[in-house]
Amino acid sequence: MRAIRNARPLGGHEPIDLIVDGGLITAILPAGIEAVGPDDLDLGGRFIMPGLWDEHVHLTQWAQHRRRIDLSAAESAAEAAAIVRSSIHQGDARDEVVVGVGFRDGLWPDAPTVALLDAIALDRPIVLISGDVHCVWLNSAALVRFGVDASIADDCDGVLREDAAFAITAQLDSAGDDELDRWVDEAAREAAARGVVGVVDLEMRWNHDDWQRRVEAGFDALRVEFGVYPQHLDRAIEQGLRTGHHVAGAVAVGPLKVITDGSLNTRTAYCCDPYPDAPAGSYGRLNVPPCELHPLLARASDAGFDLAVHAIGDAANRLALDVFAKLGRGGRIEHAQLVHEIDFARFAALGVTASVQPEHALDDRDVAERYWPGRTQRAFALRSLLDAGAHVVLGSDAPVAPLDPWVAIAAATARTRDERPAFHPEQSITVVEALAASTRTLVGMGEAADLVVLDVDPLTADSTTLRTMPVALTLLGGRVTHADAALSVAAGLIAESTEA
Ligand SMILES: [Zn+2]
Repeated sequence: MRAIRNARPLGGHEPIDLIVDGGLITAILPAGIEAVGPDDLDLGGRFIMPGLWDEHVHLTQWAQHRRRIDLSAAESAAEAAAIVRSSIHQGDARDEVVVGVGFRDGLWPDAPTVALLDAIALDRPIVLISGDVHCVWLNSAALVRFGVDASIADDCDGVLREDAAFAITAQLDSAGDDELDRWVDEAAREAAARGVVGVVDLEMRWNHDDWQRRVEAGFDALRVEFGVYPQHLDRAIEQGLRTGHHVAGAVAVGPLKVITDGSLNTRTAYCCDPYPDAPAGSYGRLNVPPCELHPLLARASDAGFDLAVHAIGDAANRLALDVFAKLGRGGRIEHAQLVHEIDFARFAALGVTASVQPEHALDDRDVAERYWPGRTQRAFALRSLLDAGAHVVLGSDAPVAPLDPWVAIAAATARTRDERPAFHPEQSITVVEALAASTRTLVGMGEAADLVVLDVDPLTADSTTLRTMPVALTLLGGRVTHADAALSVAAGLIAESTEA
């Protein structure tokens, strides 16, 4: 048992003391109780709130992304190529793949081509991954290395989309398990330092073994719920996995994840209206049509899986909602970036949670105006979703945006991150709503002691402070996973005595 003393709830309430026992909050009292044990921690009147969740991440990709060439600033294909050229280390092994990430070609004046990258290196494979990860751009050596069919290679001029792109990125995990696990651990600790206590990991891998191995090696920085993809559903069912099944440590099985359409930047999000200046009548791409989606979800549901359906375009969202209606059960739609007016109310009616990534609205506001002209009033429409009664949860989709809930919270509330006017400010939500959509627990009796301690009250912070919110302390089930310099001595005592 331990007391966390002198903590201030958000919104100007009187300081409280919390008793934590067995990972739970077992009592809440007005501040001023006597010490209950040597582990007690005095927060000195700092603010306390529930721990944060990032409801949609690709943790292995995020861990790798942080070590790859950053192309997010490139405003043309030529500029992206120049960044790659200046970042290549000449000393590296000739056969080592050069990987760049984060390019956004939706507004580029020139086209990405094989020739542009071949001019950098003819014999060394180069793979550049788009910011939305639905597209890869390769040079000739990479096309050969990854066995891209010659007829496809001739046609695509080095640019592959959707499943063809996912197949390439899946082969890029050149680092061994040990090294990857170390990177993941480091990324998780950094997330904890931002107040994160849990993530839904939708990495496109057979995640079970990765997580079991990591926990055995000591991973304990976050709660993790990992997704299972359709290609692994049989294996998961055979092994007796289902949503909520405890794997090891704080790791459990999450939902079945299905990617039904593409993305906005790659212009493959499946929409009710055609893309402007696309080849005649292109509405995007439907990777999994309803006739396949329905039996797949039914099978997963019968096997005990929650359902998470990636849908970005308004047509894809409608079709996903149709399938949920047919199944007679709810689930989640991941992204829900463009929703038709008449479909907003269906989320609540069908019990479908909207799992959204607010920072994408700011990354993609110009691309959205270009490719969804006249429709952006219902793009990234968090206010419309909430007003229609939908349950909304926030995430980053890291590596698409940084694994940092404060970035998502600031984007959801301010809808701008620079001097530009807010992007459809009528779709902003309040800080209270954004925090509720980023947490799963309360500071309350019987709740998990997943807690974040702050020097600033987010309810009164401006949007710049919100975006960069300093986090003093993070507790996961009462255990310290992050402490800033001021609290680290006290927190260190806690950590020691917990282990003893
Ligand atoms: Zn994702």
